[in-house]
Amino acid sequence: MITKEQATKNLDTLITKVEAARLRVSEHHIVKIIGISKYSTSQDVAALYEVGQRAFGENKVQDLKEKSSDLNDLPLEWHFVGRLQKNKINNLIDLNPMLMHSLDSLELAQELNSKLEAKNKTMACLLQINSAKEDSKAGVMPEVALQTYKTILENYPNIKLKGVMSIGAHSEDRNEIKASFETTKKIYDELKPLGAKYCSMGMSGDFELAIACGSNMIRVGSSLFKN
Ligand SMILES: *Cc1c(COP(=O)(O)O)cnc(C)c1O
Repeated sequence: MITKEQATKNLDTLITKVEAARLRVSEHHIVKIIGISKYSTSQDVAALYEVGQRAFGENKVQDLKEKSSDLNDLPLEWHFVGRLQKNKINNLIDLNPMLMHSLDSLELAQELNSKLEAKNKTMACLLQINSAKEDSKAGVMPEVALQTYKTILENYPNIKLKGVMSIGAHSEDRNEIKASFETTKKIYDELKPLGAKYCSMGMSGDFELAIACGSNMIRVGSSLFKN
């Protein structure tokens, strides 16, 4: 279990780095931190809450359900960042996540929209872009991202698109990772006139680079929850 001292240290260290990185972009560049709690317990999330963190994310619907229910008394904001299996769509809808980062295909958009419609609900989502074109990653290809975004806006009204999400290239080469972030940022800029507000990119190993490339939402797990 993470101690209060450790939680304070982890969050302070992260905030200091994020602050420096965002100021290198602009004093008006605000970056939101989502604590990814997938390898941690509800107690650990409560410890991070106690020292000031409010937004958390999970990559499995079942884990999101358990932790959000355990911590129901705390004013937390929950995000979903993982691959959404079709048979879990209704469960996710019932959990009312603040933001779903991983809408990764038109097919999923269609399924999600029809299930939202049936429940008379909406969900804020980000379109996931496979900016490094990796077989191992989900998301739409950069070339079709703009058109896919428009198609969802026009055809699936229960999905409230708020921007884009990417995972940095799986590489040791900073330039490759940077190029993948720049690809996503360029698409995000093109989508701003269509209402895009969030560019979710950057994790424990690459959030400073992601912020330098224009990310305004980072998803940090291991470095925030480390013991
Ligand atoms: C696990 C995960 C993260 C956090 O990764 P860390 O390297 O532990 O910071 C961010 N985004 C997604 C989609 C994840 O699955």
